[in-house]
Amino acid sequence: MPKLLTKTRFRRACQCLKYLWYSFHKEEDIPPPDTQSLFRMQQGVYVGKLAQKLFPDGVNAQIHKDFQGSIIKTKELVNQGKTFFEGSFQYTNAFVRVDIFVPNPDCFELIEVKSSTAAKSIDISDVAFQKYVIQKSGTRVDKAYLMLINNEFVRNGDLDYSQLFTKVDVTEEADEIIRDFEVFLQEINEAICSQNPPNMPIGTHCDDPNACPLKPLCWANVPDDSVFTLYRGKKLAEELQTAGIHTIGEIPPTTRLGAKQEIQYNCARNDNIHIDAQSIQRFLERIRYPIYHMDFETYSLAVPPYDGLKPYQRIPFQFSVHVEHENGEIEHKEFLAPSEETDTRRAFIENLKESIGEQGSVLAYYQSFELGVLRELAEAFPEHQEWVAHISSRVIDLYEPFGSFYYYDTKQKGSASIKNVLPAMTDLSYQGMTISKGDEASAAYYYTVHGFWDGTRMSVEEIQTKRAGLLEYCKLDTWAMVKLLEKLKSHINN
Ligand code: SF4
Repeated sequence: MPKLLTKTRFRRACQCLKYLWYSFHKEEDIPPPDTQSLFRMQQGVYVGKLAQKLFPDGVNAQIHKDFQGSIIKTKELVNQGKTFFEGSFQYTNAFVRVDIFVPNPDCFELIEVKSSTAAKSIDISDVAFQKYVIQKSGTRVDKAYLMLINNEFVRNGDLDYSQLFTKVDVTEEADEIIRDFEVFLQEINEAICSQNPPNMPIGTHCDDPNACPLKPLCWANVPDDSVFTLYRGKKLAEELQTAGIHTIGEIPPTTRLGAKQEIQYNCARNDNIHIDAQSIQRFLERIRYPIYHMDFETYSLAVPPYDGLKPYQRIPFQFSVHVEHENGEIEHKEFLAPSEETDTRRAFIENLKESIGEQGSVLAYYQSFELGVLRELAEAFPEHQEWVAHISSRVIDLYEPFGSFYYYDTKQKGSASIKNVLPAMTDLSYQGMTISKGDEASAAYYYTVHGFWDGTRMSVEEIQTKRAGLLEYCKLDTWAMVKLLEKLKSHINN
């Protein structure tokens, strides 16, 4: 059977026709989803199943491995006026399987379930595509909805599905999109029929709505000083690329740049590192010994697992603290919640309290994250409010010298993320680690708790390996902070 334009492929087409082309011609070249994407997708499937509970009379319209049978069964259910899930509709080479369809006699409703709390434009385009295919296949759609997670929901005992979800009417927006559909579908079909991938330049679309998995291919030869590394300059980068300018060093001197972009420009042109010694000095003067380099790891779920939590509220499960004493001595303290399904927040704050003394500065890298988690912990455990207020008042953000460009090296590629700053400034990096990103750590912890990975049950050894990876990852985050602070000091003292 020839490949069909499914919802997934349509969403890829909305992002980039080259991505779509690979879906049809070289699917094997598209890297499989990474751990965090897999985690997101699995949450989406789970949320989809929960939404079905709002329709207790609904039936499954899908017949396993019977494509034509599923289409026929769907048609029968429409005619019978029965609510159904996973109904199949086809029009020419376009095929959709809808999450929920409610064929009330006076109003046929199409419902697409999403695990997010806000409607994204790609989701509305997705609904428009489904509405178009269903209508063209001969079934009317009077109303089109996105069913989203209600971000005001707070768990209290058993889940109340009618409160957990919120339904957003997107009929008008979908119809607006459908009006221009014929032209877009023609472009899609031309791309599908082409022997070669469309010549799509890289751009902002490569990360919108998600990072395209083909980035390692398309972005392979992008240099460190690519115009796409310009600070908050993606649109400008696209204009420069269209004009044939690919590196920051090539930007004409008459181009209007922001202050941080100007720093990047000078670094690229002069092949040097920017150091604003005065600002670094002022920053360093605020820090007091002992210095607590502190980092948290959290996970969050669409459906809050414990009472008092909102959807996607952060649940801290791990921290690392490197304590730097004035005499040069360095201690390491850490906490990783056990691999069991339990609310980890109380143990987290109690252990953190034991790890941080009454005096000295507390360094975080991008403090709004750690401060936000502490604030939520204080709300959940009022008995720790005073301590949280005290520790929060001592927090200093090590991100500041990099985010404010007191220090900038072209090797950072326009980013002040610790993942970019660390290898630019030291000989350390996150490469080759079992776990090398925060999102990956969240997913890894969740999987070790539930004892499966990629749908397969994990052995005790595998769980231990992942836990060792978590400890190693979080420890590097705070060790990196020790090293970055040391480097900043060395630039002042030289
Ligand atoms: S990386 Fe960018 S240009 Fe390449 S296929 Fe993906 S979206 Fe298109």
